[in-house]
Amino acid sequence: MRTPSLTIKMIGVGEAFDPALGTCSFLVKGGPTLLIDCGYGTPFFLFQELSNGNELEAVYLTHFHADHYFGLPILLGELEDLGRTSPLTILGQKGLATKVIDLCEMAYPGMFKALPYPVIFEEFTDSTSFRDLTLRTALSSHSVPNYAISVERNGVKAGFSGDGALTPASKQLLSECSVVLHECFVPRNASTNHAAAADLFQAFQDTPGSIKRLYLVHLQKGLRTKESASFLPAEPLPFEVAIPNQGEVISVE
Ligand SMILES: [Zn+2]
Ligand SMILES: [Zn+2]
Repeated sequence: MRTPSLTIKMIGVGEAFDPALGTCSFLVKGGPTLLIDCGYGTPFFLFQELSNGNELEAVYLTHFHADHYFGLPILLGELEDLGRTSPLTILGQKGLATKVIDLCEMAYPGMFKALPYPVIFEEFTDSTSFRDLTLRTALSSHSVPNYAISVERNGVKAGFSGDGALTPASKQLLSECSVVLHECFVPRNASTNHAAAADLFQAFQDTPGSIKRLYLVHLQKGLRTKESASFLPAEPLPFEVAIPNQGEVISVE
């Protein structure tokens, strides 16, 4: 069997206030181990995945909402407990270093400066690389600046929306990925802050792209059980649509 270029573990798939499913966070492996987002609910599930303190190499933050970055002080402290010595790279938009350091200072004063391993911040827009990963971003439509990201390795791309409705730029970026994990808060009638399933289906159907599988995450609490069947497409789309469970692992080839 061919080794996939990337695998993605669903550390959490819930919305902002959904304790049952964990805050949205994804562990990307294959190349360097990269965590996408680290909300307040992320560390407790993530710790079960990490075999040692040095395994995680980088974290990317889509935006500065609690369900996407408030887990960082806990993560940084736990990595210290696990004996981390190697540098940790944190990637994200402009202002990232200040946001993270301020949060750590609020959570545990003095903690950030005392970490026994280096933390490297890389603030970028548009694109950068991390080892053999190429990272590209595009702004979505959300209440604070949120950068959707594509992660490319060996010519294979996975896309992560973070939060927000599609913009022309995020639609373009994500349509070039073979697997997309998209926030989908409501079945239809997207707001300016959140995506709706019907709009995602329409948008990616209209944009001839590479998408093979679209995973809907960050669903409004209760939606998975009450309405999931009714808002999934009745007619087949050019790509598969799935609502993943926490803990599920997917391959990107
Ligand atoms: Zn969120
Ligand atoms: Zn948000």
